[in-house]
Amino acid sequence: MNAQPMRARAEIDLAAYRSNIRALRARAPRSELMAVVKADAYGHGMLPCARAAREAGATWLGTATPEEALALRAAGDTGRVLCWLWTPGGPWREAVEADLDVSVSGLWALREAVAAARACGRTARVQLKIDTGLGRSGCQPHDWPELTTAARAAEAEGVIAVTGVWSHFACADEPGHPSIAAQQSVYREALAGAERAGLRPEVRHIANSAALLTLPESHYDLVRAGIATYGVSPSPEVGHPADFGLRGVMTLAARLAGVKRVPGGHGVSYGHRYTTPAETTLALVPVGYADGIPRHASGSGPVLVGGKWRTVAGRVAMDQFVVDLNGDHAEAGEEVVLFGPGDGGEPTAEDWAHAAGTIGYEIVTRIGARVPRVHR
Ligand code: PLP
Repeated sequence: MNAQPMRARAEIDLAAYRSNIRALRARAPRSELMAVVKADAYGHGMLPCARAAREAGATWLGTATPEEALALRAAGDTGRVLCWLWTPGGPWREAVEADLDVSVSGLWALREAVAAARACGRTARVQLKIDTGLGRSGCQPHDWPELTTAARAAEAEGVIAVTGVWSHFACADEPGHPSIAAQQSVYREALAGAERAGLRPEVRHIANSAALLTLPESHYDLVRAGIATYGVSPSPEVGHPADFGLRGVMTLAARLAGVKRVPGGHGVSYGHRYTTPAETTLALVPVGYADGIPRHASGSGPVLVGGKWRTVAGRVAMDQFVVDLNGDHAEAGEEVVLFGPGDGGEPTAEDWAHAAGTIGYEIVTRIGARVPRVHR
């Protein structure tokens, strides 16, 4: 971290991000890799990450919303991009004109794609999604013959090209969960059904990060990796990022806003959920839940100050929290690291997830817009 006097910042190590993508590609050597950059690249900054992902060999980018995918095009990305979170009346025509691959989970969406393609005289690239058991978006298996037949008819007319058949796991982050095999079986059936309907998709894909790391038979033509590219583990059961040669990309640091001596018996922060056991030194960390620091980590979130781990004392407030230095000294302006890759002795996003009873995804994704991202 450099010595700029910023209240707080999230350093984004793009070299680590590129290296993670290369390491993940090596784990799925016969598949292409889609770097999932939705939600501002899980809080890491979508455009710099998208550029870095391409440099590291990601032939696909994935977003949830079409608006995110269109922002990639507006920034000059010309490669393949799939966006999957569609609503009726969404920017279907803009997506077709921008040569995006659009996910279609049912007949209403197919009609939107066909209408958009006709309106602009282009062929819409459509990826049909089957719900193999997640119970979220995707076509139910009993509606699959109707959807694939209708898609094939539109393809024969030249208004769409079915470029993919895909799905998403529910429990890949719990290796051995029985739903994993069940979903794979439904997926194989869906692929066979698509073939019977005359479809020849370019890419078949179902693997997210957890499946990429633990389930080689799920890799097919393309793997969609999000959290692992950012060097964060999908779950403790999958393992530690370093087990897979991955390194945390985001380091969240702040500068102490104040340090003071207080007597024993001093209540700290709203609700006085912490009281100093003896005379001590309190340090004020100027980030709070408005910056994405989970309030559920009150009393448990770890930080590194002066080479030692300290714990959030009392409640995380909107803009700040306090740590008890237990008599050690620190200076206002001194750096405090909330999380990073961990190899400098600092906590990781996984440590914060554990402290807050959540997942690493939520820790990095929710770091707020008020915290500047510094890409290097
Ligand atoms: N594919 C889809 C459809 C997703 O929604 C996501 C993220 O939630 C991913 C892939 C990437 O998942 P992960 O971050 O676990 O790799």
